[in-house]
Amino acid sequence: RIVYVNGAYVPEEEAMVSVFDRGFLFADGIYEVTAVVDGKICEWDGHIGRLERSLGEIGMSMPMSAEELLEVHREMVKRNNLEEGAIYLQVTRGAADRDFVMPEGLDQTVVLFTQAKKLTGAKSGLRVISVPDIRWGRRDIKTVQLLAASLVKTEAKKKGKDDAWMVEDGFVTEGSSNNTYIVTKEGKIITRNLSNSILPGITRKSVLRIVEELDMEIEERPFTIEEAQNAAEAFMTAATSFVTPVIEVDGVELNGGTPGPVSKRLGEVYIEESRKASC
Ligand code: PLP
Repeated sequence: RIVYVNGAYVPEEEAMVSVFDRGFLFADGIYEVTAVVDGKICEWDGHIGRLERSLGEIGMSMPMSAEELLEVHREMVKRNNLEEGAIYLQVTRGAADRDFVMPEGLDQTVVLFTQAKKLTGAKSGLRVISVPDIRWGRRDIKTVQLLAASLVKTEAKKKGKDDAWMVEDGFVTEGSSNNTYIVTKEGKIITRNLSNSILPGITRKSVLRIVEELDMEIEERPFTIEEAQNAAEAFMTAATSFVTPVIEVDGVELNGGTPGPVSKRLGEVYIEESRKASC
């Protein structure tokens, strides 16, 4: 693979970042993951907008203009012959002698790499467990501090399941790396409202737009695990998972343990629209 490090496109074996990088020592950095389908970048405006916001929230600026970053993304697709998969972008504050006080004026570290994987096609549905949400209080910022998410997803896998839904004060916040939804027996889609408790998903935003275009009913509010277990169906969204059905919550199967019609429909429409709008 060819990776991008601070202005250079290099083979991954040759890529180097300082051991004093604050991303490595303090998780002092922001990331974005964008999907690539048919060699094109999906949801660019959403991801670049959130990157700028996340950076701003931790006192950092954009490493280069949005246009330049798009060029780097496109160059990575080209150099890695990426037809379908993900582009990972990470911007950290830079390298400095270890100190909790953030030094000013560092040269940011900018890294990109690609991951080829099949993203489109039918999805069989995920089985999830619930776990306490032990993450920090600013989950709206997409920082590289992913230890809690990584721990709970690993726990789910060890239990033979696919993902973990995190619960705080009795309500589901989100999945380990995705936004969560249930569909009530009356056909209403429920997903948690935006706040500091969850990441404002770019896929979430598009799916909510599609839901309105399709004249489906939607309510943005927190829901419980019990409510999810009594729902007609459930699903999750994320940049490289699009709309993925959830077929089991803490051992209780939804829709007979198969992807439900609303999840399937939204998944199809989302892929169609995101293909059209990719760049
Ligand atoms: N929530 C969390 C915690 C995430 O890590 C992610 C994506 O990685 C999402 C939600 C979904 O966001 P997006 O649709 O922008 O990928």
